[in-house]
Amino acid sequence: MNKSAHAIGNPFPVIDDCMVVGGIPITRLAERVGQTPFYAYSRSKVAAQVELLRRVIPADIKLHYAIKANPFPMLVRHVAELVDGLDVASSREINLALDTGTTAHDISFAGPGKRDAELRQAIAAGILINAESSNETRRIHAIAQQLGICARVALRINPAFDLKAAGMKMGGGPKQFGIDQEEIAGVLNDLRQRDDWLAFEGFQLFPGSQNLNADNIIDAQNAALDVVAALAEAAPGPVRCFNLGGGFGVPYFPGDRELDVVRVGEAMHRLTEKAKAVLGELEIVLELGRYLVASAGLYVTRITDRKISRGEIFHIVDGGMHHHLAASGNLGQIVRRNYPVLCGNRVNGVSREVATIVGPLCTPLDLLADKMEIATADVGDLVVILQSGAYGLSASPVGFLSQPSALEVLVD
Ligand SMILES: *Cc1c(COP(=O)(O)O)cnc(C)c1O
Repeated sequence: MNKSAHAIGNPFPVIDDCMVVGGIPITRLAERVGQTPFYAYSRSKVAAQVELLRRVIPADIKLHYAIKANPFPMLVRHVAELVDGLDVASSREINLALDTGTTAHDISFAGPGKRDAELRQAIAAGILINAESSNETRRIHAIAQQLGICARVALRINPAFDLKAAGMKMGGGPKQFGIDQEEIAGVLNDLRQRDDWLAFEGFQLFPGSQNLNADNIIDAQNAALDVVAALAEAAPGPVRCFNLGGGFGVPYFPGDRELDVVRVGEAMHRLTEKAKAVLGELEIVLELGRYLVASAGLYVTRITDRKISRGEIFHIVDGGMHHHLAASGNLGQIVRRNYPVLCGNRVNGVSREVATIVGPLCTPLDLLADKMEIATADVGDLVVILQSGAYGLSASPVGFLSQPSALEVLVD
């Protein structure tokens, strides 16, 4: 239970106690959008975040954007202009990536269970495929042969180690992702037999998402390099690409501290030197999703009812878990905690109170803020969820209870 104001404050300007988003008060923005609920993503905040990261990581690191974090086409186009490449995980994401004008060389395709049609599309386009199983490498070979086009392949490694303190583990132990480290040598041998239609390019190793601990990220990156260095000799060709995955976290909850990217950046300078010494000239790719876009996004809803039940205040708003599953606490969280939520047109408020904010769905899971201190608000006021630019609308059960969908807008 969190009865105090949220530790993560509003990063947008405030005029007359009203948030200013995209240069206009959020009440005006809501009128322009024409409805609530909506998501707004700030171009300048995405650009500032990319710039912050670029200042600290080595200049020759290839910074990619993982589209699954937020596939809103206008946003993807904006991010594509700021980064060096894109990571995709489906046929529609391949189309989105190619539509930005990014060259196929700088697009990589990861994910378990890739279908034949998706593999055909990726091979035909010249996209790098991060293979997730030995079976998949054989299917890629067969399809490449049918098409008469050599497929670009890297192996995703499921490491023998875990990334400590990741919010969501993507590697280590038994996993559906990647090929177990112990099996990689065998798969490399198989690739060598198939080098007529498979061009080996390197390795990917992505241990986990939403990591706020710099030391853990640094340790995992170094451990990843050790794994790759040990396997390089068995590879059918030089390791041209070493993909570190994503996973840089952002603060969401009281007590979360901003990731120390300066320290991570310094360690990446040493990592890059070492990688080049061990493996020769190569591309080191960092493919971030959340870190690049989360803080640039807002989810905006309007209060449709205010009621008091047995002494507790409830705001019922016109959006909820069907648009923002993560804020409801149902996207993989173990303990539900409140996202940073505020009243967009009464940021500080002349008076404040503890209220519970729920959506319109007929389920107690549709909870956006549990007993949280917020400005005293009423029907018609705007409730805003911060840190909503990643894993928002596209990661939510939008069909649940057949509610209207949310709009999305890109603002300055
Ligand atoms: C999800 C994903 C990413 C991005 O993860 P973040 O935690 O959002 O940075 C990068 N690479 C792959 C392969 C992914 O599946």
